[in-house]
Amino acid sequence: MMKSSIKSVIILGSGTSTGVPSIGCSCLVCKSTNLKDKRLRSSVLIITNEDKKILIDCGPDFRAQALNAGIDKLDAVLFTHTHADHAHGFDDLRQLVFRHKTPIDCYIDEEDAKDLRSRFAYAFQDTGYQGMTPKVEFHYLEKSANICGLNVKVHRLPHGSATTLGFEFEEFLYFTDFKHVPQDVMEVVKTPKHTVVLSAARKILHHSHSSMSESMELCTKFQSTRGILTHLSHDYDHETDSKALPEGIKLAYDGLRLDFNQRTGVS
Ligand SMILES: [Zn+2]
Ligand SMILES: [Zn+2]
Ligand SMILES: [Zn+2]
Repeated sequence: MMKSSIKSVIILGSGTSTGVPSIGCSCLVCKSTNLKDKRLRSSVLIITNEDKKILIDCGPDFRAQALNAGIDKLDAVLFTHTHADHAHGFDDLRQLVFRHKTPIDCYIDEEDAKDLRSRFAYAFQDTGYQGMTPKVEFHYLEKSANICGLNVKVHRLPHGSATTLGFEFEEFLYFTDFKHVPQDVMEVVKTPKHTVVLSAARKILHHSHSSMSESMELCTKFQSTRGILTHLSHDYDHETDSKALPEGIKLAYDGLRLDFNQRTGVS
């Protein structure tokens, strides 16, 4: 049987919690006409060699992102955490449930599932409502899982008063919304990791987010060939800041497609 692997990863959203432009802001980046400065809330879509589609995070821009990327089915949804910018598109999963007449498999921390159950209580109660609600099947994540044939290691990362799940696939690492990567996690992440996508919300230090320089340093520690910074605020002007980045590190932008070579596992 063919081994499952990642064919491509699409950055559906590269923005911080407010998105860019941010409401009411008239800074140069928020006023920029460069489409690479238009950032929906952070999310990625993984497509496997068997054409399985795995969404990581389902934020408030999910509907627009699904339409932009032509998503007509999802085989799994993974949640890093349940902050609004990562989970408040939950209701829009209902359209896919309706189309395929089957609940969507959601992989999530057990506490985060409780959180979604209370926040979207109507979807989990029998209220007699005849309309569509998102129907999901929760699978609680611990240290590792096999999702659509892909082995994924799950790491716990500090994010202010919250904890975020960081996902490590064979050639692809996705860590968003973390302040730092604890030593015990650094010790078990298998390196070199070909493609590393890390949040870097601000250029300046932030109490609950890794900064640009901190995430760049992590790309080096993970020995990435392709390091991508995401969850970006209006601190970043795509064109100007991209020029200043070292070889092998790039700013994410909405719609960026990262291809993985099927034979070698990398590209
Ligand atoms: Zn976030
Ligand atoms: Zn701005
Ligand atoms: Zn967060």
